[in-house]
Amino acid sequence: MIWAGKKVLITAGPTQEAIDPVRYISNHSSGKMGYSIAAAFADAGAEVILVSGPTHLEKPVVNDFIQVTSAQEMYEACANHFHHADYVIFCAAVADYRPKDVADEKIKKSDSTMSIELVKNIDIAGTLGPQKAKDQVLVGFALETENELKNAQSKLQRKNLDLIILNSLRADGAGFGHDTNKITIIESNKITEFELKTKKELALDIISYLSNRS
Ligand code: C5P
Repeated sequence: MIWAGKKVLITAGPTQEAIDPVRYISNHSSGKMGYSIAAAFADAGAEVILVSGPTHLEKPVVNDFIQVTSAQEMYEACANHFHHADYVIFCAAVADYRPKDVADEKIKKSDSTMSIELVKNIDIAGTLGPQKAKDQVLVGFALETENELKNAQSKLQRKNLDLIILNSLRADGAGFGHDTNKITIIESNKITEFELKTKKELALDIISYLSNRS
């Protein structure tokens, strides 16, 4: 596979969903896996558009780096580029919910408990996946704590993805914040497990897997 001339859209990192001007809901995603994939594709010669939530990482050298905060902003950035992309890698840990209302002022503490009403965020992969063109390849990620394979496979179908990469939270050194990860690549009828490796090494494995299947 010649990556020069191929456009790759990648989402990475967490999203932050504002509660008030100083607080937000988010998750532990570091962005390391998505940034490693973006850098590896760029090294391979692809044209890379990286849509990133807030991270503490150094910006990789890519053709277009789009910084976003919320799931809605991430969706809008992706929707703008989706139809021109040959490959789309949905690596971001998008917050599933956001506060229904965002307070204009910092919320004062008063009672011993408080509630925040949450509404569901748009599923970026689940919305764009069904719009996939015949020659586009879509890759999702899944992080499951139970029924890993079954849930990942149903996600693959529901979001109309070509393959899904299952992150294992069970393996030591895998998952959020670590430099290493343990993944399984799932296609409709093919399951490929990888050893615990650095996210940089796995990014190369993912690219070579994609090269070999085309
Ligand atoms: O449904 P779940 O969050 O487990 O799916 C994970 C996959 O879907 C990942 O590829 C993730 O980037 C993507 N996703 C998304 N928008 C969401 C939630 C997940 O693109 N709101």
